[in-house]
Amino acid sequence: MRTFSRYFTLSTYFHNRHGKRIQKIPLDAGFSCPNRDGTLSSRGCLFCNPLGSGTGQSIANIPLADQYAHWRTRFQQKYKAHAFLAYLQSFSNTYGPLTKLTRVLDALHDLPELEGICLGTRPDCLDQPKLAALAAFPGTENWLDLGLQSSNNQTLERINRGHDAQCFARAARMAGSMGLKICAHVIAGLPGENMDDFLATIGFVNQLPVRGIKIHNLYVCKGSGLVRWWQRGDYRPLDMDEYTQWVVQGLIRLRPDIVIHRINGDPQPGELVAPNWALSKSQIIQKIVRHLEDRDLWQGKLSGKANDRPYWFDRNGGIPDGID
Ligand code: SF4
Repeated sequence: MRTFSRYFTLSTYFHNRHGKRIQKIPLDAGFSCPNRDGTLSSRGCLFCNPLGSGTGQSIANIPLADQYAHWRTRFQQKYKAHAFLAYLQSFSNTYGPLTKLTRVLDALHDLPELEGICLGTRPDCLDQPKLAALAAFPGTENWLDLGLQSSNNQTLERINRGHDAQCFARAARMAGSMGLKICAHVIAGLPGENMDDFLATIGFVNQLPVRGIKIHNLYVCKGSGLVRWWQRGDYRPLDMDEYTQWVVQGLIRLRPDIVIHRINGDPQPGELVAPNWALSKSQIIQKIVRHLEDRDLWQGKLSGKANDRPYWFDRNGGIPDGID
């Protein structure tokens, strides 16, 4: 059966390229973050929870191979999955000396059924030697998840991000030139931003050698600086209709070859303060899909790079231009 989508999902990308499901396995390698440990700041980004915007599923002090084995067994049973990505999500996984990163990569090297890595970090925690170590990892799918959040430097300052958009652009170009696949993280609904700011961020991403994107709705979580803003009435989260409209407008402007790794945020159990709709993950996705279908819209329709039909989001339709 052929499966069509109006945007380029990660599962479609994996099926088209590898002919199978590839499942991310969350791992905690024990890194920290310069925006948390006092180097840049101890407050963290305004939206960040004390776990470092991480999985909440980390198994501290357990060797990476054991963490991997634990999740691999579960995902084999749950999804019948037999191909995996080691997903280092919590904090900034290239922060610290190169030797620490190479130790972590060595520990992942020979894990069974591993197709590659997906490693999250800040753009200011990268340099040539670290990128070379990542690029040398022997996987077919080596992704670098890079936080941008917004292309507006005033916003980045407002949320205490600790780097600017140009820092992201430099890191993305350097990593892209070394063969790494960049997945940009962006947020809709940041304090002080309107839809035009969000669309400007999408336009900024389009200009860079970015291969994937995670779009998050900003929600207020316990322990974050944003809680106080929300309690004082200085921050109002988007409602679900607004988020749907922002994402749809972003999608139709996004380059059609950029893979959507995520289209909404996913609060960990117990961490959400507001808005409640952030828990309705499947409802949000359905709403976005319905909105696209009702208006005959698809990813890239207004990007200037799309054909007149969204044929490349056919799971069995082969690989679109620009994807190797
Ligand atoms: S860079 Fe990531 S881990 Fe560090 S404070 Fe910001 S969101 Fe949290």
